[in-house]
Order: sequence, then C-alpha cells, then structure tokens
Amino acid sequence: MNALPIAAVVLVLSPGFAFGQVAADAVPAPLAASSGGYIRNIAAFLEQCPDRDPAYAQIMRDFEVRRNDKKTAEPVCTEPITAMTTAQYTDELIARQGLRVMYYMDRGQSGHLPWTPGTLYDWMKSKIQGIDIIDGVVGGYCCATLDGKLFFVAGNEDGPNRDADRFWYGISGNIAFYAHEARHVDGFPHSSCCGIANGCDDVFDPKNLSAYAVQWWLYSLWLNGTINVGDSCALPADRYAQGLLNSMNEQFRNRFCTNKPDLVSLPAVPEGACPPQDRRRSAKK
Ligand SMILES: [Zn+2]
Repeated sequence: MNALPIAAVVLVLSPGFAFGQVAADAVPAPLAASSGGYIRNIAAFLEQCPDRDPAYAQIMRDFEVRRNDKKTAEPVCTEPITAMTTAQYTDELIARQGLRVMYYMDRGQSGHLPWTPGTLYDWMKSKIQGIDIIDGVVGGYCCATLDGKLFFVAGNEDGPNRDADRFWYGISGNIAFYAHEARHVDGFPHSSCCGIANGCDDVFDPKNLSAYAVQWWLYSLWLNGTINVGDSCALPADRYAQGLLNSMNEQFRNRFCTNKPDLVSLPAVPEGACPPQDRRRSAKK
C-alpha cells in the first residue's frame, strides 16, 4: 500500500497551487471537484460529503444502506472529510461515499464493461437494492433479502481501513468489492481450486467475467485510464497506480486456475492524464 497521501491533502486545502499540482477547488462548493458527470480530482472529490452532492437523493433512492439489517439515522458528515476523526468516518458514510464515486466515475461511458452495456452504477442498480453492513462479518457475501429488497452484505471495517477509505486507494477497493458481490446475483459461485477455500474462480473468461474477474477488470480500467477519476492529479507518491497494478498481479490474478489474466505492467500514462481542473471559484470574488 502506498504511503498515506498527506501531501495531497495539504495541497487540496491550499488556496495557492502551482500549475500541474492538485487543484484547490475542494471545498466548500458541492461537486467542485467534478463537472459534466465525471470526477476530475478524486482526492478533492473525496473531501466532500455525500449529502452535499446534487445526486445524493437519487443515490439514496437507488440504494439503501443498513446496519445489522436495520435502517439507520442519516450519518453526520463534515468537510473536509480528512479532518473528521476515524470514529466519525463511519461504515455508513463510507458506503455512501463509495456509491457516490461509482455514480460519477464512468458516467456516459459505454462498452467498457463486458458484462453490461452501460455504467457500473446502472448495472449494480439493476442487481442490488442496498448494502447491509453487518458487524463481525469478514469481507462480505451475497446476499440478504430485507423487506423484499436484495442487499449484499459487507462486514464492518476497523479504524485503519476506514482511514484508508478517505482516499482513492480505499474507496476503489470498496467499489470493486461491491461489484464482486453484485456479480453473485448472476451466479458465479467460487471454488477452492487456487488453494483458498471458496476464494477462487475456476476460469478467467473475458466473455463471461466471474466475481473476481469483475474486480480485476475494474482495476484494469482504472489503471489504463479508461475510467479516469483524476488520481494522476495528485503528487506522484500519492497516486495509486502501482497499488492497482500490484493488486491485479499479486492478488486477483492468483484467484483463477484456468486462463489466468496476463501479468500487467504500468501503462505509459498510468490512470490517464490529470483532467483539466476548474478554476477556484472563491478566487474570482
Ligand atoms: Zn464472492
């Protein structure tokens, strides 16, 4: 795992920034870090609270977040999110933040996911109606039916993992995990062929991607920049490209027994180029 991107945080909050560094339009305007339906700077985007996002009401209509099967109060969120304590940055808030990133990250794109014609969000919405965070579950599973709605189950996270979820490297892992669990709605039971009890998929088939293959595929699109959330706007040491690559080669690839995906190397422009950034609004006034 990369070092904690402290430097990126400082830059995001700094009113003066050099060209080519992290843009400074993080707070307080909602969606300052995104425009036109995509995320221009994931570090700035993740400093914003989901309940201040114009799409939040829609996201909450599409997906319900529960804890131990029960409805919960609206989580309290204050910006910037990196200034919240670990205890305040709850699993309920993290789930909403992951859904919010998913909502925007490939908006308007098509043909990039072999298992569905459109976006990841729209596909997941067609399979799952919510996330049930259950204390003590390790990882998660598909699925639970509550009040006639289908939920996938996610275990609660410890403090260090919730801290990681303030940043792209944590949130990206969560999104890929959500997609993995939603893929189980279509079947794709695991095997133990790779030596991990019920932690393997027999075949990596690009035309019929299994649950682990869906995770590998998303990492691949993030790494090659097909889905570009502006992680390359951060300082080099804070970018997650190497972590994406390591996860693909050292974790997901070893979950398959037949037709393992090829080892990948860093592309020429890892994670795509930093998208054009909005000018800081307050600076104009
Ligand atoms: Zn699974």
